[in-house]
Amino acid sequence: MVTAIILILFTTNSALAHPGRTDGSGGHTCRTNCEKWGLDQGEYHYHNGGSTKAPAPAPSKPSSKSSAVLKADKLKPPAKGKLSVYFLNVGQGDATFIKTAAGDDILIDGGKNEAGNIVVNYLKQLGVDDIEVMISTHPDADHVGGLDTVLKSYKVESVYAPKVSHTTDTFKDFLLAVKNEGRTIKEAKANVSLQLKGVTATFVAPVKTYGDDLNEWSAVLHLTYGKNSFLFTGDAEYKSEGDMIGSSQILKADVLKVGHHGSKSSTSTKFLEVVGPKYAVISVGKNSYGHPTKEILNLLKSKKVTTYRTDLNATVTAVSDGKTISFIKVK
Ligand SMILES: [Zn+2]
Ligand SMILES: [Zn+2]
Repeated sequence: MVTAIILILFTTNSALAHPGRTDGSGGHTCRTNCEKWGLDQGEYHYHNGGSTKAPAPAPSKPSSKSSAVLKADKLKPPAKGKLSVYFLNVGQGDATFIKTAAGDDILIDGGKNEAGNIVVNYLKQLGVDDIEVMISTHPDADHVGGLDTVLKSYKVESVYAPKVSHTTDTFKDFLLAVKNEGRTIKEAKANVSLQLKGVTATFVAPVKTYGDDLNEWSAVLHLTYGKNSFLFTGDAEYKSEGDMIGSSQILKADVLKVGHHGSKSSTSTKFLEVVGPKYAVISVGKNSYGHPTKEILNLLKSKKVTTYRTDLNATVTAVSDGKTISFIKVK
């Protein structure tokens, strides 16, 4: 099925992705329904030509994102014999790197396109030589954007993604990079487990199919190391949360990666109660969506969940010895 999607994407042009004229540089600036197309409000992008690389000359009108130049944080190397989870600071978007006690490397999402080099910088700082498992939670640009750069820089053994496609060049770049790596995408869905030493890692979503509702398609990973557990939710929203609860899988976790950057369309009270985290991490940067929302921040506070944010704390690292979890913040 995923192969079929790749074929479709390779044989059709991803033009007619959404309304809007292209300008003299062959692209245009997104003005309406940008999130739906995996773009930021005001993001300059291309419909045609199979390239997201900047043309020469660069568009005369700078996109809004270029105002905030992202710099990589200085990270502490993973602790030997422990599990380290890095909620990487990639600005607005998600990228989480996990080093297991057995030494395996897992990358969940890679931030936006322009964060790709920063993610590679982080992986180099952390001494990563190859990646055992790469997970693309869903095709939105703030998650899948940087993964093609990582694929070009690292040997990746397995790539997991939910069975949903998207028409953006950003997503097409990812599919092409997977193909060039000689890999086929393995389907991420509820009850699929990763074969890794010393940890139990199982997808708990997507439980169902969600049409073109990309966030709801998010691959959600539950990971247990000793007595500690983590839930990585991507951008899963209420519908998927309800389906996860209904599927009676293990959702309980000490650490919750809050869904959809703290949007109020995720993290229902019921879901938070079922997961019952002690800690929450919100992966978020400067954005125009109002993420994280005060509703979700207040909900976490009311449940006495200690909450970290990559926009305030920069990269947040959780270190587990299998019994207790400690946190390291850059800020
Ligand atoms: Zn999304
Ligand atoms: Zn997102």
